[in-house]
Amino acid sequence: MNNLITAKFGGTSLADASQIKKVAEIIKSNSARKFVVASAPGKRFSDDIKITDLLYKCHSQAKNGEDFSATLTKISERYSEIIKALNVDFDIDSEIAEIKTKLQSGTTPDYPASRGEYINSKIIAKFLGWPFVDAAEIIFFNEKGLLDENTTFKTAGEKLKSLEYAVIPGFYGAMPDGKIKTFSRGGSDVTGSIIARSVEADLYENWTDVSGMLSADPRIVQNPKVIDYITYTELRELSYMGASVLHEDAVFPVRKAGIPINIRNTNKPGDNGTLIAATLPKDIEKRAVTGIAGRKGFSSIRIEKSMMNGETGFGAKLLYIFARNGIPFEHCPTGIDTISVVVSSELFDQKREIVLREIKTELDPDFITIEKNLAVVAIVGEGMVSVKGMAAKVFDALAKAGINIRMIDQGSDELNIIVGIDEGEYNKAINALYDKMIA
Ligand code: ADP
Ligand code: ASP
Ligand code: MG
Repeated sequence: MNNLITAKFGGTSLADASQIKKVAEIIKSNSARKFVVASAPGKRFSDDIKITDLLYKCHSQAKNGEDFSATLTKISERYSEIIKALNVDFDIDSEIAEIKTKLQSGTTPDYPASRGEYINSKIIAKFLGWPFVDAAEIIFFNEKGLLDENTTFKTAGEKLKSLEYAVIPGFYGAMPDGKIKTFSRGGSDVTGSIIARSVEADLYENWTDVSGMLSADPRIVQNPKVIDYITYTELRELSYMGASVLHEDAVFPVRKAGIPINIRNTNKPGDNGTLIAATLPKDIEKRAVTGIAGRKGFSSIRIEKSMMNGETGFGAKLLYIFARNGIPFEHCPTGIDTISVVVSSELFDQKREIVLREIKTELDPDFITIEKNLAVVAIVGEGMVSVKGMAAKVFDALAKAGINIRMIDQGSDELNIIVGIDEGEYNKAINALYDKMIA
């Protein structure tokens, strides 16, 4: 029995009035769903534009001294349509006027971006007849812009527990000076997790437009299997590696408290979705491979130097060059006389000349080879460690599909095998691996 559920609804679940009505049905069908976290209206159809993207557009237009009124009108019209169809009493004009004033006086992008969830949540609260609680009053960041967990959990817990029900906007909180700060894109998932933790929920439901975490990206593999159960660790790995259904940081607040996450489909509320917990239920066998995910946009910088192995601190010096230039490394496979650093191409390209110069002067390598347009694909599963020949299966699948492997890395926890391939072969690789390892 779940007595207390925090339910987060994503952008497609709240894209228009008919979706919001479905959400209200879901909320009212279980009285345990007491705290609702809402996203901004997302896409209604594939070419549609998310409200959040329109808000960012207003900000960049304002910053460049361009006229943003047409973009702001689009936002206003979408909310007006929702307000009318839900028949709620809501003054959208004054909300839009406030955004306009802030944009004209020069604001950070975070403030306008946050208004997508702020306005939507206020409308939904009115429609449900529930109180609205502004995230800026209960979610706090420290000076460094990191979540201030203690203050947040305490303040949010006290505030929300004093209410029977509430709607809370996702995606943002407040800095110590009160200014609005957002999480990274998709961050309403993080808000949902924080709220679940703060109110000590029994379950964190994350409602979206697919029936759970799928074993591969449904935009690449046709009808991938739904993962019915998955551990927090596997989920973190898959979401970090690109399975975008849940924000990669959403697992942390609930994991510490052992609150399970249930990913569900607003358009198919009868489906069980995916249950995410610390361990799998006893009667479920550990799968060797739970899912496959990947990301594009990496570069590999390969350094060759004879006798590198005997040079103490070589790797540390190399990684420090990337670190002090603000480029985190994703992977770092090593050989005896070679070491490669795999980094985001976007970040590397901005600092390319400096980084290469520093490598040459500080490490005096024999050769530096740069490979661009790399994609990384992770094959993830907690049962992998006890199955022989997993790597062979991966190589076989890719070889049969005619795909060249440009990097291999196995996590030290043996939870994953990661391969680097050419970006152009990304979809083919995911399909080949899915067919061999999961289908
Ligand atoms: P929301 O607006 O509800 O937050 P998102 O668009 O952020 O939803 O996430 C849901 C989408 O994630 C799905 O529509 C799907 O296209 C995509 N996705 C990518 N990889 C996966 C995966 N492994 N499992 C499920 N969905 C995935
Ligand atoms: N609306 C925000 C975004 O589009 C946050 C979210 O939907 O989770 O990124
Ligand atoms: Mg999302």
